[in-house]
Amino acid sequence: LSDKFQNIFANLKKKGKLNEQDVKLAMREVKLALLEADVNFKVVKRFINDIKERAVGQEVMESLTPGQHVIKIVNEELIKLMGEEKVDLTTSSEPPTIYMMVGLQGAGKTTTTAKLAGMLKKNGKKPLLAACDIYRPAAIKQLQVVGEQVGVPVFTMGDKNKPVNIAKAAIEAAKSNGQNVVIVDTAGRLHIDQDMMDELIEVKEEIRPQEVLLVVDAMTGQDAVNVAENFNEKIGIDGVILTKLDGDTRGGSALSVRAVTDKPIKFACIGEKLTDIEVFHPERMASRILGMGDVLTLIEKASEAIDAKKAAEMERKFRKAEFTFDDFLEQMQQVKKMGSLGDIMSMLPGMNKQLKDVEVDDKEISKVEAMIYSMTLEERNNPAVINPSRKRRIAKGSGNPIQDVNRFIKQFEQAKKMMKQMSGMMKGKGKKGLLN
Ligand code: GDP
Ligand code: MG
Repeated sequence: LSDKFQNIFANLKKKGKLNEQDVKLAMREVKLALLEADVNFKVVKRFINDIKERAVGQEVMESLTPGQHVIKIVNEELIKLMGEEKVDLTTSSEPPTIYMMVGLQGAGKTTTTAKLAGMLKKNGKKPLLAACDIYRPAAIKQLQVVGEQVGVPVFTMGDKNKPVNIAKAAIEAAKSNGQNVVIVDTAGRLHIDQDMMDELIEVKEEIRPQEVLLVVDAMTGQDAVNVAENFNEKIGIDGVILTKLDGDTRGGSALSVRAVTDKPIKFACIGEKLTDIEVFHPERMASRILGMGDVLTLIEKASEAIDAKKAAEMERKFRKAEFTFDDFLEQMQQVKKMGSLGDIMSMLPGMNKQLKDVEVDDKEISKVEAMIYSMTLEERNNPAVINPSRKRRIAKGSGNPIQDVNRFIKQFEQAKKMMKQMSGMMKGKGKKGLLN
C-alpha cells in the first residue's frame, strides 16, 4: 500500500498548480490502491469523498505546493479513519483487572496474551494468565511455555473443566495471590461459529471483564473486518489487537476495522517474538501507509516558517543526504525562526532516539555560524577537503579553539551519515521501523 501511495504522490508532487482533474485522477488511484489493499468498500467510498471535498477546494488550488497539500489532507483523513489518537487499556478500580482475549483460531490470541502480560509486567503489574482453551490440542502447554518466557504464571485446570469455571477459578486465585491483572486466553474456531460465540458470551457474562480484546490477524485483509464486525455484534468488544503486521500485509485491515466497528485498535503486533508488541498510534500507522515517516509533520512545520519552495528543497536534501555547510548555515537561520533544532531533528524518521535531547542555544548557533563563515566556498560545499591546516585556519578565523572546529565537523559528518541511513531505512522493509 505504501509503495502505491508513494507513486501516486510522486506524480502529484511533480506538478505545480493542480486542477480539479489532477486531484480527481489522483483520488481514483488512491481509491484503487485502497481497494486493492483490502480496505472495506464502504470505508473507501467515504474516505475518498471526504478527501475530494477538501482537496478540490480553493485552499489547495491556490497553495504553492498543491501536491503536498493533498498529501497532507490524505494523511489527516487516514488518521481520522484509524481513530485520531491512541487509546490506552483501562484498569479496573477493583483488582484484578480482567482482560478477555477473543478471536479466531490462529489469529494470535495465545501469543498476544503472553506479549501483553510481558508488557504489563514491565509496567509494574502482576499478571496471571488463565488457560481457557480446552479444545485445541496442546493449547494449555503453549500458554505455559510463552508464560514462562515472559515470566508470568499461568493458571490451568486441564481440559476437563468448562472455560467459564476455569476463568472464575483463575480470578479467585489471582485475588488470593495478589495478582492484579488476569488475562483470559480463550479458544477460537477457524470460522465464526455459534458454539464458540455462546461459550464466549457465557464467559463474558460470568467474569465481567474490564475489556474484551479482539485479536485479529492483519494478513487476512477483508476477512479481518468481517470477523471484527461479527465479534462486536455478538459479544461486544472494547478494543482490537492487530497481529502479524510484520508480514506482507496490505494494511487494509488496520484502516477498516476501526471504521467498521468504531472500536479502537489498541495494540499492534509485529512479529513472533514475545516483545513484538506496541501501542497502536494512528498517526504513525498513517505515515507508515504513506511511507514517509514523520516527514509530513516536518513539512507542515517548515511551511509555517519557510516558504514552501525552500521546504521542498530541504526535504529533498534531507532525504538524499546532500547536505553542505551552506545548507547547514541556512538551516540554522531557519531554526531560529522555527524553534529548536532538536524539535526538527526528532521529526525525521530514525533520528528520534539519537537527537531528541540535543539542545541548541543561540550562543552555540553563533559559534557554528562563525566557523562556517570562516570556510571557503569550496570547503563549505565539499567538507572532505578540510585537512588539519585548513581546520587551524578556520579555528583562528572564527575565534574558536581547534577542538571545537573538530567536534563540529565530526558532528556534521555524523548527522549526514545518519541521514543516509535514514533514507535507506525509509526505502525499506525492516520490521523494527514498522511503526516508529
Ligand atoms: P491463537 O490460535 O489465536 O491462540 O493463535 P496463536 O497465538 O497460537 O498464534 C498462531 C500463530 O501466529 C503462531 O505461530 C504465532 O507465532 C503466530 N503469530 C502470532 N502473532 C504474530 C505476529 O505478530 N507476527 C507473526 N509473524 N506471527 C505471529
Ligand atoms: Mg490459542
